[in-house]
Amino acid sequence: MFNEAKKLIDKSNNIYVVGHIGPDGDSIGAAFGMCLALRKMGKNANVIMQQCSDSFKFLPYINEAKKNVEEESYDLLVCVDSSSNDRLDMLKEDYDKAKSILMIDHHKKVNPYGDVNCIVEDLPAASEIVYDLLRAMEIEIDKDIGTYIYTGIMTDTGSFNYASTKPSTLIAAAYLVEIGVDFGSICDKLNHTLKEPKLKLIAKAIDNMEVYYGGKLRYSYVSYEDINRLGVEEEDAEGMTNYLRMPEGTEISVYVRGKSDGTNKVSMRSGGNVDVSKIAIHFGGGGHVRAAGYTMRDDLEIEKQKLIEIIGGRV
Ligand code: 5GP
Ligand code: MN
Repeated sequence: MFNEAKKLIDKSNNIYVVGHIGPDGDSIGAAFGMCLALRKMGKNANVIMQQCSDSFKFLPYINEAKKNVEEESYDLLVCVDSSSNDRLDMLKEDYDKAKSILMIDHHKKVNPYGDVNCIVEDLPAASEIVYDLLRAMEIEIDKDIGTYIYTGIMTDTGSFNYASTKPSTLIAAAYLVEIGVDFGSICDKLNHTLKEPKLKLIAKAIDNMEVYYGGKLRYSYVSYEDINRLGVEEEDAEGMTNYLRMPEGTEISVYVRGKSDGTNKVSMRSGGNVDVSKIAIHFGGGGHVRAAGYTMRDDLEIEKQKLIEIIGGRV
């Protein structure tokens, strides 16, 4: 699978790497891991990223990300962790400047794009595909590259807890630990550290919880005004579904947050009996069986009722 990707990389010199909007640990891990590896191969490589949560600011070189492409054109765009090209964290005009596109992803495919695809739907993280690609290309994974790949794998597997975790995932992680990745520090910074406003947002999201279908569905909404008032940065207002699904008997948890542009972002988690990616795709989004999302663009109450109804038919 990696032969075509290797050929494309070999013949390219000026390369940009981009993940999805509202980058999570896997998007950041796959993008920077790939970019640092490309630099090691002697390429002129950069990551395009608009902004990310402060919690990732401990990662090396993260502040070097560019927002735009400065050149008129470039050889290759590597897109990671994004199931469709309208979710890439870059301007359309910069996307169009690429002579070739390589796509590396692990989502259920909705709109495939690009010249060469490395898609492995059953791997838990795009970062694990980047790991496999680098190993296949015999590129040495150094500590910085490893730190990013480990971050991506750790975050998208819920610290190796989700059922999506494969034996290969644990083997990759073991390799990264062996080369010196400081996994304890990554875990501490991303799993056990948060700003006080975020803790208050968690309390607010739990307080706002609504229960449907005898506890099989737990839903919470937090408005943009509340997020703003609490002092939580928009890109940091995520991660509430993990708490909402903790009560026994929960099948699906849904967290909806208001955004500054007036739309509402939906985040869903499933225990595995219901494929939430199908629901997300139905509403124009995407994701995986157990984790998916989309954006509500119309009236919140109407959209909410539609969602609760469709879930009711499945739980
Ligand atoms: P989260 O709930 O953490 O934002 O996202 C869970 C999963 O669903 C991730 O894999 C993410 O890429 C995917 N996802 C979330 N929102 C959207 C969306 O608006 N469109 C698509 N295509 N995927 C989404
Ligand atoms: Mn991912």
